[in-house]
Amino acid sequence: MRAVVTGGAGFLGSHLCERLIARGDEVLALDNLSTGSVDNLAHLIGHDRFRFVRVDVTDYVHVVGDVDLVLHFASPASPIDYLALPIQTLKVGSIGTFHALGLAKEKKARFLLASTSEVYGDPEVHPQPESYWGHVNPVGPRGVYDEAKRFAEAATLAYRQTHGVDTGIVRIFNTFGPRMRPNDGRAIPNFIRQALAGEPVTVAGDGTQTRSICYVDDLVTGILALADSEHAGPVNVGNPHEISMDALARWIIELTGSSSRVEYIARPVDDPTVRQPDTTLARELLGWSPQVEIEDALRRTIAWFREQRDARFDAPPLSPDATAHILAGS
Ligand code: UDP
Repeated sequence: MRAVVTGGAGFLGSHLCERLIARGDEVLALDNLSTGSVDNLAHLIGHDRFRFVRVDVTDYVHVVGDVDLVLHFASPASPIDYLALPIQTLKVGSIGTFHALGLAKEKKARFLLASTSEVYGDPEVHPQPESYWGHVNPVGPRGVYDEAKRFAEAATLAYRQTHGVDTGIVRIFNTFGPRMRPNDGRAIPNFIRQALAGEPVTVAGDGTQTRSICYVDDLVTGILALADSEHAGPVNVGNPHEISMDALARWIIELTGSSSRVEYIARPVDDPTVRQPDTTLARELLGWSPQVEIEDALRRTIAWFREQRDARFDAPPLSPDATAHILAGS
């Protein structure tokens, strides 16, 4: 099978590429590297079933040859990224989604949209089932991401109904693991980076707001289960393990053995108060449920962040050969 992964150099995209290669598929990763990094793909570059092309899928998507699966994961996804790139975020969710859908239509491929728990906004139903329409502020700072993904869901359904494209929609809840950028601004990488540096760990507001956090390996298993099925979705994929940000910060301080203290900072505008997936559908349709204990997952992620900190000082730059290979996409 041949898969195209848009956003293939991102946190989730790179884990998807890796898993697809490991199971024997051929993978073409597309990314404009605005928030992704070739470092995330360094171990796959040179593999004979893997290819990376630097392209902005908002500009165009052109792929030669057969494609069986299009995984549309291109988008800034952390709040500070989409606040810094609001128009790009809207464009990749709209124009980029049309391009990715067009590719799936042309190739008669299955199409899977990476949607998000953000479509539920600051939810008034808890936990959130797929049938909940959400509580989103279109003109708040998060609107650029939330509405782009809501639009992308509508576009995906329109292609299914109008053009008969075999589509699926996964609504992804908070996920963490190796390859998150330490400075991407999200709670878990921030807390780990700060705890490892002995800096104050910044909890927004009073820290009573909750998220439900999933290890990336579990998430990828759920995404591929949906990709391999014929279900249209949307299907929530996430770990229902719900935790307050204050408790999470303190847990990370403990697991890192850090002497950092918690510092309370301003809460972002429209920051959701609670979030937890209702995963009944994923269980019933896909037989999927998360397997990795959160403490184990946090330990693995902390270990990776430690290695990065150590490696960053003496990591060699990519060789000119590797760079040329990457940029030529060959
Ligand atoms: N948060 C925090 N400290 C930080 C970064 C984030 O307390 O340094 C909070 C943030 O306000 C939110 C929660 O952690 O309530 C999760 O934020 P994140 O950016 O990880 O994801 P999202 O808001 O998209 O779920």
